[in-house]
Amino acid sequence: MRLRNIPRAEGVLEACKEVVKNPQDLHGSWNQEFGNDQPLHIEIGMGKGQFLLTLATRNPQINYIGIERYSSVLLRAVEKYQELEATEEGAPENIRFICMDAHDLPAVFDPAEVSRIYLNFSDPWPKARHARRRLTSQEFFKLYDKVLTADGTVEFKTDNRPLFDFSVEELETSELFALDQLSYDLHNDSTMNQGNIMTEYEAKFSSMGNPICKLIAKRR
Ligand code: SAM
Repeated sequence: MRLRNIPRAEGVLEACKEVVKNPQDLHGSWNQEFGNDQPLHIEIGMGKGQFLLTLATRNPQINYIGIERYSSVLLRAVEKYQELEATEEGAPENIRFICMDAHDLPAVFDPAEVSRIYLNFSDPWPKARHARRRLTSQEFFKLYDKVLTADGTVEFKTDNRPLFDFSVEELETSELFALDQLSYDLHNDSTMNQGNIMTEYEAKFSSMGNPICKLIAKRR
């Protein structure tokens, strides 16, 4: 994703009450932040937010947190949220935003506090020496293990076949997680595509004719 420094980003995020400023303070008490005991689903690398905002609107019985490490990108998601606030239907109340790096997940969530992790069109980090930075590497699955419930899942979509193949291989050798479902052409897979919500990247790449791959991982 091309990044531009957007000077107003910090101010807009600071003023938005749905952006959690000190998320580590809510470690273990996210239910209090949402005011209910609903399951918590998070998206890492939420980008401009279309996916999670749509999910939150459709599923008021679930709490959602969008995580994005760049304030200039999170700004776009927050602005979309604010546009929804101005509509008659209003914005969903079951969503929060955090500007942070996924490496800090265990500092922000207690063990078993998260029941689903979404990874959509994650950065591929194509150089072998950067493989540990991929969000589907063993390193990150070790972090997911620290925050997911016993029946928690990781759902990953991408059009990048080398990254997808890498992710499948990481799961085949992982002691923690294993493949549960997989499709190499999600949009033509009537089972896995049910209820699919397209992300901004997914809409762009599928319109170019790229098949979308999806996997769901569960604990071993
Ligand atoms: N998920 C969106 C979509 O499908 O349209 C955006 C995809 S974009 C290629 C990947 C996003 O993940 C970027 O906005 C990037 O800043 C974010 N990201 C990458 N690594 C991250 C990390 N370690 N922690 C938090 N966000 C990350």
